[in-house]
Amino acid sequence: MMIRQRQIKAIISKTCGAAMFTLAAFLVGASAKLAGIEINMIPPASAASGPSASPVKALQTREVYYPGTEDLAADEMRVIACGTGMPNARPKQAAACFLVELGNGDKFLFDIGSGSAERISALKIPYDYLDKVFIGHLHSDHFGDLGDLWIGGVIGNRINPLRVWGPSGSKPEYGTKYALAHMEKMYTWDSASRLGNVDIRGQVLEVHEFDYRAINKEIYNENGVSIRTIPAIHALDGPVSFILEWKGLKFAFSSDTFPNKWWMKYTKDADIAIHECFITPEDLVKKQKWTPGAALNVGTQIHTSPAQFGKVMSIIKPRLAVGYHFFNDYDTLPNVLEAVRSTYDGPLALAIDFMVFNITKDDIRVRMAVTDEDIWPQPATQAKLPPDASKRIGFSDFIFGGRVNFKEVVDRIYSEINEKYETEIPPPQ
Ligand SMILES: [Zn+2]
Ligand SMILES: [Zn+2]
Repeated sequence: MMIRQRQIKAIISKTCGAAMFTLAAFLVGASAKLAGIEINMIPPASAASGPSASPVKALQTREVYYPGTEDLAADEMRVIACGTGMPNARPKQAAACFLVELGNGDKFLFDIGSGSAERISALKIPYDYLDKVFIGHLHSDHFGDLGDLWIGGVIGNRINPLRVWGPSGSKPEYGTKYALAHMEKMYTWDSASRLGNVDIRGQVLEVHEFDYRAINKEIYNENGVSIRTIPAIHALDGPVSFILEWKGLKFAFSSDTFPNKWWMKYTKDADIAIHECFITPEDLVKKQKWTPGAALNVGTQIHTSPAQFGKVMSIIKPRLAVGYHFFNDYDTLPNVLEAVRSTYDGPLALAIDFMVFNITKDDIRVRMAVTDEDIWPQPATQAKLPPDASKRIGFSDFIFGGRVNFKEVVDRIYSEINEKYETEIPPPQ
């Protein structure tokens, strides 16, 4: 691979209670290395052109991403890690989920694993814009929070239907259609409870199942965005990986896979290649408390170990390789990094939740998002329909008869709200 002149800048911020430390690592070109390895600290840009500090002006550059505060350029792609961990979600890491935002206004979710709905909400994006989900396979750590986005999105002001793409399986019951039809059934009571109470147009689930054996087949083409699927090798027949291309930028996402020939062929020269990079077999024994046999089988045969991940990246040579799908801690990261670096010396980020990648033809910038925990849904992007009260299912006489209404309190609330918002909603009798 040609040595790349572009600078790739990685900033890893951690907030721990009141204390915050920032580790900034600047990687230059394909020879850049982390830990064990050289780190080139580059002085701030202002140093080159003379001092420009001010005691009263805001800083000119921000080394973190504050959701909802930056425009996307017309030719820019922003990718945000909304889940980078393992099947058992934990406070620090949700399971697999990456958001791709494009300068044309389109947004796509790739996988939506357990815990990721909370991360997605922290990005302050109206749910109407989060209406396209691509699922790589049907493990809970890759689609476990779909129900939360689906139902939670309706309550959070989504009016668009939720569109979901996912693979078939070797039998109909192993496919995405079957899984989502049964998810809808699982939420039968939930859906019934909302009839006549809220605008439920966003509750429509549009499922697009495609052949898991399709090789480099386009499954989406709208608004200049093309998304293709390739088979993945993981656990059972059915899993796939995705390739998104738009305005000359190429994003590849493995979901889960053993290294395979399709990924090697079709994701070559991706601008950003996100591939699973499992915990090392040794840490699966030590930290996950597995037997060596299970650690070797799961860690190198069902999943891709860090050294195998490095090998994959050294073949496809992306502008930026992103490893995910491991608990990224102070005591696991060095082992993962060492194993990756035994087989790959190109540009690399080992992802953690809320890592943000801004990608243009000239630059790739890696930062961490700083998020607000007091998140509320964003407003609707289109007018809501008043719910049709005649659709309400209501209560049995038995349950209704148990209500204690506090009529004078409720009447007062109604009149206060009517006065404040200039409405005339009569209190129910
Ligand atoms: Zn899986
Ligand atoms: Zn997984």
